[in-house]
Parts: sequence; structure tokens; C-alpha cells
Amino acid sequence: MKKHNFSAGPSILPREVIEETAKAILDFNGSGLSVLEVSHRGKDFQAVMDEAVALFKEILSIPEGYSVLFLGGGASMQFCMVPYNFLEKKAAYLNTGVWAKKAMKEAKGFGEVVEVASSADANYTFIPKDFTIPADADYFHVTTNNTIYGTELKGDLDSPIPMVADMSSDIFSRPVDVSKYICIYGGAQKNLAPSGVTFVIVKDDAVGKVSRYIPSMLNYKTHIDGGSMFNTPPVLPIYSAMQTLRWIKAQGSVKEMDRRATEKADMLYAEIDRNKMFVGTAAKEDRSRMNICFVMAPEYKDLEADFLKFATDKGMSGIKGHRSVGGFRASCYNAMPKESVQALIDCMQEFEKLH
Ligand SMILES: *Cc1c(COP(=O)(O)O)cnc(C)c1O
Repeated sequence: MKKHNFSAGPSILPREVIEETAKAILDFNGSGLSVLEVSHRGKDFQAVMDEAVALFKEILSIPEGYSVLFLGGGASMQFCMVPYNFLEKKAAYLNTGVWAKKAMKEAKGFGEVVEVASSADANYTFIPKDFTIPADADYFHVTTNNTIYGTELKGDLDSPIPMVADMSSDIFSRPVDVSKYICIYGGAQKNLAPSGVTFVIVKDDAVGKVSRYIPSMLNYKTHIDGGSMFNTPPVLPIYSAMQTLRWIKAQGSVKEMDRRATEKADMLYAEIDRNKMFVGTAAKEDRSRMNICFVMAPEYKDLEADFLKFATDKGMSGIKGHRSVGGFRASCYNAMPKESVQALIDCMQEFEKLH
């Protein structure tokens, strides 16, 4: 039976990317060696790194003066590297969910942290709108897509100070004005590659301004200077990331990903709003196109386990909601085909007919 992978992360990758990765594991560039067993400093892998960086810059129209890094440690490591490298006295954070809160927690170890606004009291069902960003802070940190709660910033905010963004779960789903940020980072395992690599876009001249000592591995300067090769980088996930970037470009780049994301999300939200058995959990104006969260309507609450089984039996995978929201979460990342979204909608309609 065909499986439809709605997993929140690690998550769906384009079939071509998985196939190309599998081929390179067996024979990398016709070398007779596996990509798993060659030097990261050899010319074949250096070409992969160079192409991944070049495609990253091209697809996101990254201006001059920025570096693209591929590091280990996950987005969670960036929660600490960001303040380590950029927070001298004070930083501002928008608290829109668990990940934003974790980022804030780490920053507090380095200086004053101003929470400009929070939707914690409403279980993060919306993104706060009216807040003031302190103009004397070193940076303003946002989480552009809240993977757990299904809310998303619809574009780049205006800020009097440079921004830093966690774009783990919506990178490459829309054009980004990179010039508004000194740093954009994310774990690759939602929209780019298998887990194990973290992407970081960093503005070169924003680095090196804090007065503290920064350990080499946690210093962006080390990795900018070393071209992400200061130590052994996660070779295989970087290879897959390069393949995903090729795929994105071939599909029509980030503009086409943007169009598809809206198309898929509109289809599924329309069904959630139409079907009397389900309700969406996020405020309508902040609904994420990447992680679509919904629960059973109150009068059908006791059918939740039944629907999960019904949909799972029909090939839907990974739709169980995060424990802090409950219900269901359909993650519709870049690689998710429209046909899979339609298959989930068909399930919802058939289930409605049964009850
Ligand atoms: C998944 C996720 C993280 C955590 O990523 P790791 O790579 O596991 O550290 C952080 N932020 C957001 C928005 C996420 O979706």
C-alpha cells in the first residue's frame, strides 16, 4: 500500500533525493567507493560541499557578505551558539512556542533576555502581533514556523535591529529577505535532508563583536574560515541536502515551493473547516502551511483513536498530533505531493460519511 508520510521530522524527502543518496552510498561518482567511506577533504566531497553552498545562496538569493555553514548539533545547538556569538548585553525574543522558549532559555546564560511578547497563555495558538522590539538589543530572535503548534509568520517582520531566525521547519517554503537577518539556522531534518546536519546562514561582519572567549567549535568564525571543514562535517546528510537543493531548483525554486505550500495548505484547511467532525487548533490568520494541526470537534472527541486507526489503515503515516496539542498534525513540507494531501482529505470525508 502507498504510504503518505506526514511525519513532523525527520520527515518526507523527495523520492529522487533518497534514490540519489542510495546510489552514492553504493558508488560515489563512479569512484568504486561509497560516499560513506571517502575523505571529506577529497576533491569529490569538496565539490558536493561547494555545490550545496552555491545552490543554497542562489535559491534563497542570499546577498554578498553572508556565509552558509553545515554543522552538527542540530537547531538546539544554535540556541546556544547564537547568544554565544551575538549577545553582548541584551537580546529580544518572541515567544511563540516550545522551540522559541528553549532558545530563550539558553540565551539567558549570556545576558539579559527581553521576551517582547508571548502566546504561552493561549497554548501558543496564535502569534503575538503588537509588541515593541527594544532598539538597544543586540538582535531580535524569531521562530518563523512553530512546528508543534502549527503557526507561522507569513513573511519577514520589520525590526529596528537585526533579526535571527530559527527556520528549521519552513526553510525554502517561501522567499526570504536575508538582508534583514544576521543569522538564519535550522535542523535539516524537516525540509532539507536526513537528520544530522544543521544549516546556518550567517552575516560575516556580524561575527567577532562580542567580548567573551568563544570555544572554537562554537565560534561561527571558525566555521566561516574553515568552510564547514574545521572538523569532519556530517558528510552523508550534506550529500542529501545538495540533492534536495538540486531538486528544489529543478522544480522552479523557492517561488514554486511557495505556490505549492499555499495550494496544499488551502486544500487541507478547507476540508478541516468544512468537515463537521474536525476543527483546526491555530488562529486562522497564523495558520502554518507546513504543520497543519487539527482535533476532533467536541461532539466527536471519543472518535479520535478511531480516526487515527482509520487513516493509518489507509496509508497515512505520522499524523498523530504532538502531545502538547493532541489530535492530529499533518506536516506538509516541500517534498509532500498534493496527491498525499488529497488522500488525507479523502480519508476525512469517508470517515464523516461513516458517522
Ligand atoms: C525540530 C525543531 C527544532 C529542533 O531541532 P534539532 O535539530 O532536533 O535540535 C528547533 N526548532 C524548530 C522550529 C524545530 O521544528
